[in-house]
Amino acid sequence: MSRTSLNLNDKLYRYLLDSSLREPDLLVRLRRETETLGEAARYQISPEQGQFMALLVELTGALRMIEIGTFTGYSSLCCALAMPPKGRIVCCDANEAWTNIAKRYWREAGVDGKIALHLGLARDILDALLDPARPDGSEAGRFDMAFIDADKRNYDYYYERCLELVRPGGLIMVDNVLWSGGVADPTDQADNTVAIRALNEKLHRDERVTLSLVPIGDGLTLARKRP
Ligand code: CA
Repeated sequence: MSRTSLNLNDKLYRYLLDSSLREPDLLVRLRRETETLGEAARYQISPEQGQFMALLVELTGALRMIEIGTFTGYSSLCCALAMPPKGRIVCCDANEAWTNIAKRYWREAGVDGKIALHLGLARDILDALLDPARPDGSEAGRFDMAFIDADKRNYDYYYERCLELVRPGGLIMVDNVLWSGGVADPTDQADNTVAIRALNEKLHRDERVTLSLVPIGDGLTLARKRP
């Protein structure tokens, strides 16, 4: 019984995984391979968060998703596997070596046909998607779901663009919003921490969305664009 969110110790976290994680072998292998990347491996979302996001895809019936920050593809793979065959995910990342790993696993899982990878700076990709001069017109309002998990200093920009890209009633997920606790430490004035803290404060007051900050992984904000 708790009136606050639990701070999981190792034993309880292990119990959570042992008693609820249903991670397919392919995702286990992707996670292991990502761990060999050293320092960058911290960009990997936790497996229970991947499972939670897959559940959100099922709950919302999302068919079109955009992901800002794909890394080695764990989250996109979780979501793609949860979508029916006509589901589509636009993935944005600037790193070809990382996304080449993602591509191998998407192919092996048979979901590569659901995923369109855009390599480049996310700001440029998002601006291009919203350009009314595109052959198919602006993508504004055409996505059911967005996942923001790239460089933190551009989080506000990504959030505003995603708010345009998702339809009314669509869901925006923002990762790392608890930033290993740094956001709650006023002495932490690092650029990334300041950017995340500022977005958290803005979202708290943002009447354009319905909000919940879920303390899963490193903190995942769910923001539903109000119709
Ligand atoms: Ca992350």
